[in-house]
Amino acid sequence: MIAVVKKSATPEQLDHFISWIEGRGYKTNVSKGDNETIVGIIGDTTQIDPFLLESMDIIERVQRVSEPFKKANRKFHPEDTVVDCGHGIKIGGGNFQVMAGPCSVEGDNLFRIARAVKAAGATMLRGGAYKPRTSPYSYQGMGERGLDLLMEAGGELDMPVVTEVMDPRDVQLFLDKGVDVMQIGARNAQNFPLLKEVGKTKTPVLLKRGMSGTIDELLMAAEYIMSEGNPNVILCERGIRTFETRTRNTFDVNAIPVVHHLSHLPIVGDPSHATGYTRYVRPAAYAATAAGADGLEIEVHDHPSEAWSDGAQALTPSQFADAMKRIALIREAITADLNDGETSGTTLGEGTTKVTKVGA
Ligand code: PEP
Ligand code: MN
Repeated sequence: MIAVVKKSATPEQLDHFISWIEGRGYKTNVSKGDNETIVGIIGDTTQIDPFLLESMDIIERVQRVSEPFKKANRKFHPEDTVVDCGHGIKIGGGNFQVMAGPCSVEGDNLFRIARAVKAAGATMLRGGAYKPRTSPYSYQGMGERGLDLLMEAGGELDMPVVTEVMDPRDVQLFLDKGVDVMQIGARNAQNFPLLKEVGKTKTPVLLKRGMSGTIDELLMAAEYIMSEGNPNVILCERGIRTFETRTRNTFDVNAIPVVHHLSHLPIVGDPSHATGYTRYVRPAAYAATAAGADGLEIEVHDHPSEAWSDGAQALTPSQFADAMKRIALIREAITADLNDGETSGTTLGEGTTKVTKVGA
């Protein structure tokens, strides 16, 4: 349930209302926007009489929220969430960011790849130190040494580092190393102990959609993180498993505007895992950008045939540089103001109305 508070309400009246609600055993989620303040009420609200709330002086109107996700719901928080990833990089609410780097951290070649993606315009560095592999005999990642290399490269290039955490017992290590964004991979999208553990921190989380997860399940996974107190969630559409076998996964581009409609959280597209083949990565990246994604995560390797994982879907640095120029043009097209000064952001879905350049 949400209660929209009148503009005339004083901070004392608002505090009093919140304590009254919380005193009845509910949790609250306050969203102060430019135009209105919304108090989200979380719990079994069937016990609350909406007419009683509406009779209160400071309450404008009350609305039941039927979706099971509350904190992630746009009804609870009408304005886009902007997540601060560190190093001056923000994502969401019109800020578009590209995270790029190898699938796995393999050694010193990380520095070469990182410099190349930065030169092409990537604003965040990705790389896996702990790898979720289908086979236990496949390369499992460098572990802690990989984290150290990522942090060194991110520091040298002044880029936030995005890297996957697979085990709740490793979360503290990621925090100690200063990882900027913790990625939760598709295979762990419903690993509830892991979601809760990253939820206990304030470090941004890049949450990928499960291989056969619905959009609602993705939003409920975000709710697990947010309900523990971490509001800094970035969602990621990385393709889902369907009957199609010509690509590694089926890229659900629809999910991008659907998530913008349902949630205030930023959503990025991952065209690499979504398609699985280098030749399809750029078209899928353009589609995600055109659909209004808040960013992209793209795998890049300078010698794809020698990559320790996912070489088949890696872009080379020059392919990536070409893609970045076209992505910037697509951003310009979909954020263009065609109404002589009036806001025109409808192509990006609700809330995403600001016009910014790639990397802004
Ligand atoms: C990755 O980003 O390297 C990865 C393993 O992604 P996903 O969890 O989407 O498969
Ligand atoms: Mn990969």
